Amino acid sequence: MSQRIGVVGSNMVDLISYIDRMPRAGETLAAPSFSMGHGGKGANQAVAAAKLGAEVLMVSRVGEDLFGEGTLRNLGELGIDTRHVRTVPGQQSGVAPIFVEPSGENRILIIKGANEHLLPADVDEAAADLRQCGLILLQLEVPLETVYHTIAWAAREGIEVLLNPAPAVPDLDVSRILAASFLVPNQTELAILTGMPADTPEQAEAAARSLVTRGLKTVIVTLGAEGALLVSDGPAVHVPSLRVQPHDTTGAGDAFIGAFAQHYVRSRDVAAAMAWGASYAADAITRPGTQKAFADLTAFRRFRE
Ligand code: ADP
Repeated sequence: MSQRIGVVGSNMVDLISYIDRMPRAGETLAAPSFSMGHGGKGANQAVAAAKLGAEVLMVSRVGEDLFGEGTLRNLGELGIDTRHVRTVPGQQSGVAPIFVEPSGENRILIIKGANEHLLPADVDEAAADLRQCGLILLQLEVPLETVYHTIAWAAREGIEVLLNPAPAVPDLDVSRILAASFLVPNQTELAILTGMPADTPEQAEAAARSLVTRGLKTVIVTLGAEGALLVSDGPAVHVPSLRVQPHDTTGAGDAFIGAFAQHYVRSRDVAAAMAWGASYAADAITRPGTQKAFADLTAFRRFRE
């Protein structure tokens, strides 16, 4: 089985404001600091996997602007195959204004821009290269039709798919994602997807179980500081998280998924890949930013010692 990872997904430029508190309507408030970073769930997951040494192909769209040029350069410098990261003429790149409070709590806006122009035909165009992949990662920052199309195509090709249903969209058609090998929601996404509460690990297990009953093979629920839960045919498996002092939890889920994917394509061991992903995410949240906070393999090995 190929160890190459394909990511059909978004890229964004994160515009991160570190604030004391959110301003109220009509209020203007000074905030301590600001930084820009490369983000977007697709690119974040691609970067986490690539930083850990995986071979990654990305299928994505950027705008005709400085952000797009920067994104292409950033992905290329990390060794990601960008032949299918194309510029959409006349469009803006995706941006994500992010507000981080002193507690590490974050609030995020998404302006998808060029990401809305990643269409099913673009996946077909990349098919010869995607066919070389042993796992394809998907999220919901590109059109839903592209997500459904990729899942159906990969199923015909016998390629495993991991779908991270984020950000949560109320109109996701579960019947069209059943062929994905892995669904990896956080608790909020799981609750929205199922209409069931998912605040506690027990509730999350019941909600995930309802998706398995509907035909999904494996659901991995990320539980923040509680770690992650694997729900499939058999008994649920809980993978605890490491105890760390979080600095900025933005991108924790992406770090988890990128590292999970990098481990899984080599090991095909789901529980071991989850433990690897959980410790990679725990390390990443001790630093500010998203991709910038993701460790390379050497630094991550040092963290695990
Ligand atoms: P998202 O970032 O998508 O909201 P989660 O908050 O569930 O996702 O975090 C993803 C993973 O990151 C968790 O499964 C866990 O392994 C790790 N993680 C998140 N928050 C913490 C924390 N406070 N301490 C340790 N690990 C954490």
